[in-house]
Amino acid sequence: MLECEIKNGWIQFIEFIEKRCSSVEFENWIAPITLIESSIEEITLEVPNIFVQEYLLDNFKEILADFLPLKSNGDPAIRFQITVPLKEESLVAPTSLEEEAPASHLKLNPLYLFDHFIEGPSNQFVKSAALGVAARPGRAYNPLFIHGGVGLGKTHLLHSIGHYALEHHRKQKVQLITTESFINDIVDSLRSKSIDKMKRFYRNLDILLIDDIQFLQNRLNFEEEFCNTFEALLNQNKQIVITSDKPPSQLKLSERMVARMEWGLVAHMSVPDLETRVAIIKHKSETKGFNIPNQIAFFIAEHIYNNVRQIEGAINRLSAHSRLMSMPLTEEIVEKILSEMFQGKVSNKKISVEEILKSVAAVFEVRIAEIKGESRHKEIALARQVAMYLAKEMIDDSLMKIASSFGGKTHSTLLHAWKKVADQIQINESLRRQVQMVQRNIETPT
Ligand code: ADP
Ligand code: MG
Repeated sequence: MLECEIKNGWIQFIEFIEKRCSSVEFENWIAPITLIESSIEEITLEVPNIFVQEYLLDNFKEILADFLPLKSNGDPAIRFQITVPLKEESLVAPTSLEEEAPASHLKLNPLYLFDHFIEGPSNQFVKSAALGVAARPGRAYNPLFIHGGVGLGKTHLLHSIGHYALEHHRKQKVQLITTESFINDIVDSLRSKSIDKMKRFYRNLDILLIDDIQFLQNRLNFEEEFCNTFEALLNQNKQIVITSDKPPSQLKLSERMVARMEWGLVAHMSVPDLETRVAIIKHKSETKGFNIPNQIAFFIAEHIYNNVRQIEGAINRLSAHSRLMSMPLTEEIVEKILSEMFQGKVSNKKISVEEILKSVAAVFEVRIAEIKGESRHKEIALARQVAMYLAKEMIDDSLMKIASSFGGKTHSTLLHAWKKVADQIQINESLRRQVQMVQRNIETPT
């Protein structure tokens, strides 16, 4: 491809997409993207924020691949550059005493609203806690700590609180940050010698929403600043909401920090059940103006169960497909498209006990060392039995050898655990799903 063809490729992609998505979708998500550079190897796009980038890739990766140069793995070769906001100082005379937001100014995903969050038994409690703090910041639960697996809607709820606060408490100062961006703010303000200004900014907030606190682990220098900011806000009854992939006690953070995070309400989000997944599929597809029949919605929900983001990926794929082919969706077509989606799944990869332990530990929220240990604590014992069950199911090795990888257990312990779990999953639906989730995590390469 020649360079001008690459540029044309992008223009053609835009023309192609414009005809196929709603004008609101196009104006919000596609129009703000600017082509900065194109070469034979890749193109560079400027996007106003990370959400636009994710939106583009989540929805149109396959289609982009038809128009643009490709990377060796078949993905479209795009480099993203996030628009640098104009420096406030250069525009406004420094007369105002109001603190300006640091670089990471409030960026809320317009789609992450409470109204778009589908409730079910797995997330009802968390959603009502989030609504509670949004309605009465600093007076309901403080801090609110939300934890749960990837793609279950933690970030969505955090943004929903932000939207709600902007609408209902206009005078309050709200900031939403990822832990990474907080760290970057510290680094930047140390560099530009404006650390006091930054501290003042954070300590003057009314609501601080922090996404993915797990990234603060092993960042000792920053943890202290974080903890100080935290305490300053909590002491003034200013609302803090935190999300994490693990509960506070399992984060490798100082005792002081863990204690602060456990001070308020710790709420867990789990995998949505079948009905909720179907409702999510119906809702997501309707907002895209794409109608998925009930039967197909159930079919998708039965096949993708542990991550709502994956469900969205499936809907996007089906919607792109049906637009391109202008053909009604049948179960066979859906099955074909979805099985392509899971094509990366390794079926004859050699699986190790360590991989099983890692995945069990993540899903059951216990430590690997605890699984290998002797504790008879109910949750740990169950996680250990599930790991043993899966090891026997998935690893083709002698029982003795497998058992010894569990901190020197005997093969009769292993057999006993296997039998127990095999019986339990016949009658316990939620355990069955957890086991399936672990298995899928092991089989899906990351
Ligand atoms: P997490 O932060 O837990 O990894 P996200 O909040 O990023 O997950 O959610 C992943 C995607 O799934 C988002 O697009 C979000 O809108 C969607 N999602 C997750 N849970 C729900 C839900 N209950 N209702 C509607 N959409 C959901
Ligand atoms: Mg998230």
